[in-house]
Amino acid sequence: MVSCSPNHSSNSLKRVITHSSHYTTLISLALGFSLILIPCELSARGPQLKRYEFSLPRMGTIFRIELYSPDDATAAKAAEAAFARAEELEQIMSDYREDSELMRLAREGASAPFPASDDLYNVLAKSIRISELSRGAFDVSVGPLVELWRKARRTGRLPNASELARAKVLVDYRNIELDAARHTVFLKRAGMKLDLGAIGKGYAADQMLALLQSRGLRQAMVVAGGEVALGAAPSDQAGWRVAIDTPDTGTGKRPCVLMLHDSAVSTSGNSRQFVEVNGKRYSHIIDPSTGLGLEGAASTTVIARDSTTADALATALSIMPVGDGMRLADSLAYVAVYWVRQAGNGWKGYASRGFPTSCLGAK
Ligand code: ADP
Ligand code: MG
Repeated sequence: MVSCSPNHSSNSLKRVITHSSHYTTLISLALGFSLILIPCELSARGPQLKRYEFSLPRMGTIFRIELYSPDDATAAKAAEAAFARAEELEQIMSDYREDSELMRLAREGASAPFPASDDLYNVLAKSIRISELSRGAFDVSVGPLVELWRKARRTGRLPNASELARAKVLVDYRNIELDAARHTVFLKRAGMKLDLGAIGKGYAADQMLALLQSRGLRQAMVVAGGEVALGAAPSDQAGWRVAIDTPDTGTGKRPCVLMLHDSAVSTSGNSRQFVEVNGKRYSHIIDPSTGLGLEGAASTTVIARDSTTADALATALSIMPVGDGMRLADSLAYVAVYWVRQAGNGWKGYASRGFPTSCLGAK
């Protein structure tokens, strides 16, 4: 019998070799991720490839790899290297580790241009691009507001007006200066704090998938918390089955299921991680214009070419009004979006051009 459940307690690489046929469901891990994943049936009908599954804690959540490989050793070595890559990225991007590169940047980057690693530089360049596209809804310099949100979670009190004002002056992606020639990052205001919470897991998923594929394992999927990066479809399948957990799914309502390959999916939602104050719920997704977490339940699902884009856009499009987000989505190649928003006592779904109709039919 195969266990597909994530292993929270062990830090050792957990390998599961599967030969039977069933579904796996990964639902809203304890940390509040909102994607349900239903991989394809477990046995590849091709004679040479077997299906393997691995999971490990990374970046405060569970990362999972599913891949098809000709043999055990190739699968295990590739998965180990991919998790090592995720660990390397965590050491660069974590805002919980004082010695991460991101935290060093916060300490040193306002005094002089900070020489950044390729990974940090690339993820910041991509962040700024998404900020420009979303006109600041997504803002990687949101760190001081995230700190206030975390304080509110500890104390049960919202920040007061002067705390909010002090934090907000430090939040503006236009004060991050990237120098492509020198590969440096300069923070124009002392006290700025960058936060990669809305893009780092997607970047890690892309990097891990690329590593697996560079080792010839093209039929692979990486799930980094709620971020899904997909390689080629398994031999006997049209794609990978990815089911989206939207707030309108529940008893009697099946989740929306996508069948995808060589792409990425991300769902951002307001309903899983929140602070409750005076009966109101404030999500961990912060609107930089108000300085507060988004209110009310909603979800935004993005399909994109890569997981970095899907992750960041799902956050950006959670904050933007649906109409603006729809225009943005339709202007971008390989991007399709599905919004679920509250409408009176019920729910309303909105899909951008190209979002699979199979999903909309599930409502
Ligand atoms: P999840 O991590 O649950 O998938 P998201 O991808 O939407 O959710 O990322 C939420 C995290 O991103 C927050 O915990 C915070 O660290 C960061 N964040 C919050 N608001 C913003 C914002 N407006 N722009 C960029 N990052 C944000
Ligand atoms: Mg995100």
